[in-house]
Amino acid sequence: MRGKAKLISCTYCGRRVPVDKANRIRTTNFRYSDDRTGLNYFGGFDTARCCPSCARHRHVKNLVPMKGRPKRR
Ligand SMILES: [Zn+2]
Repeated sequence: MRGKAKLISCTYCGRRVPVDKANRIRTTNFRYSDDRTGLNYFGGFDTARCCPSCARHRHVKNLVPMKGRPKRR
């Protein structure tokens, strides 16, 4: 199904890329830590999508493996 994949917009540059071409990255949605008061808040992980060029440019390491990806021959 080439050309039929749903288009998503990249998180960083807003470029429209197909879903099967985009990289899934794990980002922290909110994080706050203060050493002086000992306050440490961690919001959790969020999954974002970015285009291959942004992934290469930013050297993203926290890639989430694709699940349910259609097998193509
Ligand atoms: Zn991008």
